[in-house]
Amino acid sequence: MAGSKFAYVRNFELPDPLLQETYIVLRIDGHSFHRFSEDHEFAKPNDVRALQLMDEAASSVMETFTDITLAFGESDEFSFLFKRSTSVYNRRHAKILTSVVSQFTASYVFNWAKHFPGVNLKYPPSFDGRIVLYPTEKVVRDYFSWRQADTHINNLYNTAFWALVQEGKQTTAQAHEALRGTNSAQKNQLLFERFGVNYNSVPERMRKGSVIVREEVVNEDGSPDVGNKGKGGKKRVPTRVTVLHCDLIRDEFWRERPYILL
Ligand code: ATP
Ligand code: ATP
Ligand code: MG
Ligand code: MG
Ligand code: MG
Ligand code: MG
Repeated sequence: MAGSKFAYVRNFELPDPLLQETYIVLRIDGHSFHRFSEDHEFAKPNDVRALQLMDEAASSVMETFTDITLAFGESDEFSFLFKRSTSVYNRRHAKILTSVVSQFTASYVFNWAKHFPGVNLKYPPSFDGRIVLYPTEKVVRDYFSWRQADTHINNLYNTAFWALVQEGKQTTAQAHEALRGTNSAQKNQLLFERFGVNYNSVPERMRKGSVIVREEVVNEDGSPDVGNKGKGGKKRVPTRVTVLHCDLIRDEFWRERPYILL
């Protein structure tokens, strides 16, 4: 098709390829969710409806982008790992980042009413996103360990903070002051001695965040369901997007799932 005399402007667009043979990690985070969570009366410290909605939006991203092998989420954020060899959108940075953030946001809004029945969405939520390239398996594992350690630190703090406010009838300023400079052991002790809460009995969803993987579909007799032949006659192993709330810092998690670091 012959271009118009205006078509030269296209040449101002610059290529933005992501380096080959590196792991693409894409993290999204809710914009001003401190305010959004108050405006929509999220339960504190953890509104389970909101966490499940995040999981559903992330699962929809994984259904759409089949080269994502792992996702991890907590609070208003989710991280996605692409397999090292992915050629999705020819590894164009902006195309990948905007498409994932848009799919996530659209799915969050699309599924809002299912998770928050009877609660009106007062305004459209939005998410930001960034991509970081990681060169080695070690640094990818350390990235996800960093996020899960963060989940633990935040959740222990928030559990103690909201116990002081909700049960202890302290103001938020007093609760902040009471927790200033305390270490994990002291927060655990405070929860147990003042509020009878054993932190280890807080649900794993809160303590570990959400880990989304692809699990093999297994037949009733335990054999893997290899399903129909895929494109090019290759046998395709069907996999199901599965949400877990487990430890991903330990070696076992990665040993059991070698496909994550393909
Ligand atoms: P920014 O736009 O800079 O990300 P933010 O207000 O979103 O600002 P974050 O550090 O991302 O700040 O923190 C998200 C906040 O959203 C949490 O501190 C918490 O107040 C709230 N939040 C997110 N998810 C939940 C949830 N499931 N239950 C209760 N509160 C939540
Ligand atoms: P890609 O994901 O590569 O952008 P695409 O299918 O979105 O693929 P585009 O070149 O962006 O391809 O074209 C958008 C197409 O969407 C149009 O060709 C047309 O078929 C359809 N479309 C968009 N807006 C309208 C509209 N208002 N009415 C009817 N069809 C529309
Ligand atoms: Mg942010
Ligand atoms: Mg945020
Ligand atoms: Mg956040
Ligand atoms: Mg289009």
